[in-house]
Amino acid sequence: MAKPTKPASAATKASARASIKAAAKAPTKTPAKRLRVLSVASEMYPFVKTGGLADVVGALPAALRDWDVEVTSVIPGYRLDKTKDDLVTLAKADSDSGAVLAVNLPDFFNRKGGPYQDENGADYGDNLARFSAFSRRAAEVALGHYPDLPAFDVVHAHDWQAAAIVGHLHDLAKGKPPPTVFTIHNLAFQGRFGGFSFPEVGLPAAYFDKDWFEFYGDVNLLKAAVLRASKVTTVSETYAAEICTHEFGFGLNELLSGRGSDLLGLVNGLDTAVWNPMSDAALPLSYEASTAAQGKAAAKARLQKDHGLETNPDKPVFGLVSRLSDQKGIDLIAEQIDGLVFRGAQVVMLGSGDPALTAALEAKAAQHPTQVAFTNGYNEALAHLIHGGSDFLLVPSRFEPCGLTQLSAQRYGAVPVVSAVGGLVDTVIDINEASRRSGVGTGIIMRSVTPAGLGQALNRALALYADEAAFAQVVQNAMTAEVGWAASAGAYAALYRGLI
Ligand code: ADP
Repeated sequence: MAKPTKPASAATKASARASIKAAAKAPTKTPAKRLRVLSVASEMYPFVKTGGLADVVGALPAALRDWDVEVTSVIPGYRLDKTKDDLVTLAKADSDSGAVLAVNLPDFFNRKGGPYQDENGADYGDNLARFSAFSRRAAEVALGHYPDLPAFDVVHAHDWQAAAIVGHLHDLAKGKPPPTVFTIHNLAFQGRFGGFSFPEVGLPAAYFDKDWFEFYGDVNLLKAAVLRASKVTTVSETYAAEICTHEFGFGLNELLSGRGSDLLGLVNGLDTAVWNPMSDAALPLSYEASTAAQGKAAAKARLQKDHGLETNPDKPVFGLVSRLSDQKGIDLIAEQIDGLVFRGAQVVMLGSGDPALTAALEAKAAQHPTQVAFTNGYNEALAHLIHGGSDFLLVPSRFEPCGLTQLSAQRYGAVPVVSAVGGLVDTVIDINEASRRSGVGTGIIMRSVTPAGLGQALNRALALYADEAAFAQVVQNAMTAEVGWAASAGAYAALYRGLI
């Protein structure tokens, strides 16, 4: 069993001073009204990313600046250069990301594999201890235990990896923690471990209680945050309602619905600086809505050529950029590929994850080498090129808290084909008679997450593509839809202010 976290010694705190001083001294715009928020998460773009969590945590600080909220972010220091400092400054306060501090716990985070799994894809056996130690250190930062970093007004923690902070703040602040916001990016991942491992959380045994971390005899980190955070948010309104139901609640539906108006859905935005077809180095030709035809044709040609596909500008290309998991409906896509190829379409896929789903997509690419391509892996540049070169982007998720690829797809003029769940329904306007008349449809929403449901949606996509004028109009609608952070950043700012 891993040792409990050591409190930061005076010596290590002093040595941390050098690296954190710069962040604290950076100039600020409006000191009088400024609210200081500490964001705590296990991922943050561009420093470390495995999915949408990183995108959100990376983009929110810049968006919140317009609302006089100054965010300092704390993430684990994965593979830091050798240093004895407790905290290492990755970015200063005046950077795009705001101040970013990495917690230095080399035994836990200086490892060869990914953030959560080793090189063979197996979860690290000490994940509970790793992220609890991270949360404890972040709680110390929040409470002002480090020089030049005064206590923060609000702590905003994300997902199970940061959830233990509610307990550590309560413990360190002797029952008087600062206000906390806890955001659920995916309820499927709760940080659940055998009850015997509670000592690894590094809290007194009293916290292994049904009012805190105990859940049916297990440790459940996310559950404690759901119960104890001042406000709980999730990443779309529809998902906020869904997780209060038995079907989508993963066992926490009653606790979540018990939070009443303290549970809110605030839809994610896209970082429109990172996802901008006008300045994207991964695209052969930059484009915006008015030049989409040329820009997307060039990207499609590049995509086809790079993947050894038939170079044909007329073929509709369906793209996929996704984790390969049951959640994402990848099996449904695999089933539809033969039919798509038969009807003259191409499919270009990028993803990694579940070995069986990986094998299924590999088999389809091998079966149709000139029409179907699959890249197994994680590749930012290729993800961007697929968005540029595809006519449609497939997102047939079984559940989807928010989803970001349907947003980036719209921004790049790849019409999203999505299921009717979570944030997908909140961010895509289905192309139907009514939306067509008013010129607002931005994508195709499947009626059911089944092979037949996807099949029907793909029929609609192919029919739309065959109608050149109608398709071009949808591309325009999608590219000009509001997919950024403007609305939700204001809502987060209001939420924080309401807590102090
Ligand atoms: P989730 O967080 O559930 O994986 P989201 O749609 O919220 O799904 O976010 C996924 C993010 O990760 C998007 O920015 C997407 O472009 C990116 N992404 C997913 N798979 C890959 C991959 N194989 N290569 C590059 N980027 C990927």
